[in-house]
Amino acid sequence: MTPVYIGLGSNLGQSQKQIQAACRDLSQLSETRLIKCSSLFQSLPMGPQNQPNYVNAVVLIETRLSPDCLLHQTQNIETQHGRIRKSDRWGPRTLDLDILLYGQQQLNEVNLTIPHIGMKQREFVLYPLFEIAPELILPCGEKLSDLVRACPKNGLQIMSELVLI
Ligand code: ATP
Ligand code: CA
Ligand code: CA
Repeated sequence: MTPVYIGLGSNLGQSQKQIQAACRDLSQLSETRLIKCSSLFQSLPMGPQNQPNYVNAVVLIETRLSPDCLLHQTQNIETQHGRIRKSDRWGPRTLDLDILLYGQQQLNEVNLTIPHIGMKQREFVLYPLFEIAPELILPCGEKLSDLVRACPKNGLQIMSELVLI
């Protein structure tokens, strides 16, 4: 089993419920188990500002699925939750699942970059990740705690515990 961290985000529909349900969906993937969930956080939108605030969380799963298969499965879950992909970048969405880290692997494929691009600068990834993995060291050797210290909170707020449904 490989430890994999997944970042979840939603700012359309019932965002808290989407995130809770997505955790359940992840836990029900084959050859996969859900190990830890961060609290729910509220963040300001990245990119276009004319959209609602986001609800975010990070979860740790253990899986035997390959990175490509896991990407396929997470995209299926997004679609089941009504995600409609538009051409504009970082627009509003019912559910976004990003594979942040897959063990210590570094991947640069056309459709899959691991560690996830941008995770080292995003407060809505780093703070929830730090909550569940304070000792984490990234594949590049950087300590997560150092990245968190260097990352402004940018209005990020803790909302509540993530209750599984
Ligand atoms: P960002 O990736 O900057 O957070 P986004 O989440 O809005 O932006 P999406 O539209 O959800 O971007 O995804 C665009 C593409 O990113 C997907 O089609 C997928 O193939 C690719 N991708 C590359 N690396 C990853 C990864 N680690 N996790 C999820 N998707 C990834
Ligand atoms: Ca994303
Ligand atoms: Ca995404």
